[in-house]
Amino acid sequence: MSADKIQKTARIYALQNAVQFNGKASSKAVVGKVIAALQKDGFSPKEIIPIVNSVTAEINKISLDKQIRELEKLAPELLKKEKKERDFSLPALPGAEKGKVVTRFPPEPNGYLHIGHAKAVIVDYEYAKKYDGKFILRFDDTNPENAQLDFYDAQKEDLRWLGIEWDEEYRTSDNLEKHYKLAEQLIKQDNAYVCQCSPEDIKHGRYHGKECTCCGTGCGDNLTLWKQILNSSLDDAILRLRGDMTCDNTAMRDPTLFRIIDKPHPIHGDKYRVWPTYDFAGAVEDSLSGVTHPFRTKEYELRDECYFKLLDSLKLRKPHLMEFARLSIEGMPVSKRKIKPLIENGSVSGYDDIRLPTLRGLKKRGILPDAIKQFVLEQGISKVESSVTFGLVEAANRKIIDPNAKRYFFVRDPIKLIVENAPDMTKKINLHPGNKELGSRTIKTGKTFFIQESDIKELKVGDVFRLKDLYNIKITEKKKDILAEYDSDKLIPNSAKIQWTTDKHIKMNVLVPHPLFVKDKYNKDSLETVNGFAEEAVSNLKTGEIIQFERFGFVRIENVENKIIGFFTHK
Ligand code: ATP
Ligand code: MG
Repeated sequence: MSADKIQKTARIYALQNAVQFNGKASSKAVVGKVIAALQKDGFSPKEIIPIVNSVTAEINKISLDKQIRELEKLAPELLKKEKKERDFSLPALPGAEKGKVVTRFPPEPNGYLHIGHAKAVIVDYEYAKKYDGKFILRFDDTNPENAQLDFYDAQKEDLRWLGIEWDEEYRTSDNLEKHYKLAEQLIKQDNAYVCQCSPEDIKHGRYHGKECTCCGTGCGDNLTLWKQILNSSLDDAILRLRGDMTCDNTAMRDPTLFRIIDKPHPIHGDKYRVWPTYDFAGAVEDSLSGVTHPFRTKEYELRDECYFKLLDSLKLRKPHLMEFARLSIEGMPVSKRKIKPLIENGSVSGYDDIRLPTLRGLKKRGILPDAIKQFVLEQGISKVESSVTFGLVEAANRKIIDPNAKRYFFVRDPIKLIVENAPDMTKKINLHPGNKELGSRTIKTGKTFFIQESDIKELKVGDVFRLKDLYNIKITEKKKDILAEYDSDKLIPNSAKIQWTTDKHIKMNVLVPHPLFVKDKYNKDSLETVNGFAEEAVSNLKTGEIIQFERFGFVRIENVENKIIGFFTHK
């Protein structure tokens, strides 16, 4: 009886696993499932394993078709589950209550947003939505050396393009007076002190876990010194948290909370010169603005201790700090710090260069916001740091654009083809084989065509091939031009189908992006220009349309004063 039950359960899971993996089940995987399913009934792995092994071997002998049919009979719900799209919904947040979740996205207005920011903001925004909560856009603009006026609006524009809406927007720099008060509180409680050591000495002290003499200053004196910093009678000083200079976590070795930056701020001009660090501003703002679940990238992990110590000392509410891995993409710089120098030294043309993962670069290339969202949700909020390929973004994008992208002919590196006895024709060709709603275009053909040289490289005189969607021709001569004659209309199985344009074509360049970095080195061949002829109908396309050049790839069109340029999206 018991063997029977194991047998039945094993058969179902072996079938499911086989169907999932192209007809071959792995007994190891099946064993795990069967043990999990039967554990509560008191079966031991010792009883289960030999039965699963023999059942799996049996299942692996039958065809995938039969496996599917049997599974359909025994456990149709398992089959359906496999057919269903993977569920990419975000996992539940710890301690989250409907209507009470508050998230925030805190960009520094010091550059254009990239796909890494998209990951952060989509996660923040989607969680707020999932819990009917609130989503805050907060500009972390407390470093006047970095913040730049243009970027506040540019970042908002890019977020809107992504489909993000925020319930509240504010600038951290507007809260500086509040920050100063909290700093004073810390000093009065003797949780912070003014340090006048040189940056080198501070670094040295932190490295060796040694306190400096400023650490011994009493709180009354610290308060006087702090006021002097604020009123500009003291320079070269910082405010430090009393952490623990011997702590294994070096982030706790009396971290800096405030420093002097004598640079005009894009919003506040010269009004302030004492600015909070990320450690201070990030923690305080998350708490004061009511954020319940702030997300940070894993690289801040060591700073979490400081985040909580600060809030503890200030007796402020502590949010549920969340972490996910920073997004990295092979061959692409997913960081403002890395992108900036590329623009400054001319390695790329600007923030919207199609080789960059900036939202502007991706948009120009033809990547849709929904594809970015799909990609981000597929990645989820794992903490495992890894580098993914851009192919994942492309796959998500392809799924969205393929059913709706009009298809046209594009001939790269064209050569002339004369079909000597060609009939004059007016041919209507559908713009999409599956989506009839996209309509058709009409092409007039005569004797002259252009085709791609590499397409007929392997063909010899006497070979017959098909001008795609037109008719078959036979090669009569291969010289600089190709000569041919009309052969027949009917599709010939297995004969080559070749794209073409007529003498009424437009000259067109398509810019094709390749990885910017290969083995961490700048790839000087990262931008390729493909020259070719596109069929005439392409000249009527508008800026922003994403089409498919058959057998070439998807291309986003820009039509500037009737000059058409293409940006290669992906295959
Ligand atoms: P960068 O190196 O691009 O300047 P940053 O973290 O300094 O990155 P911010 O403007 O401070 O840029 O980032 C705003 C938010 O976006 C932060 O919460 C940050 O963690 C997140 N973020 C930035 N880059 C990435 C990335 N590559 N992957 C995931 N999240 C990111
Ligand atoms: Mg930053």
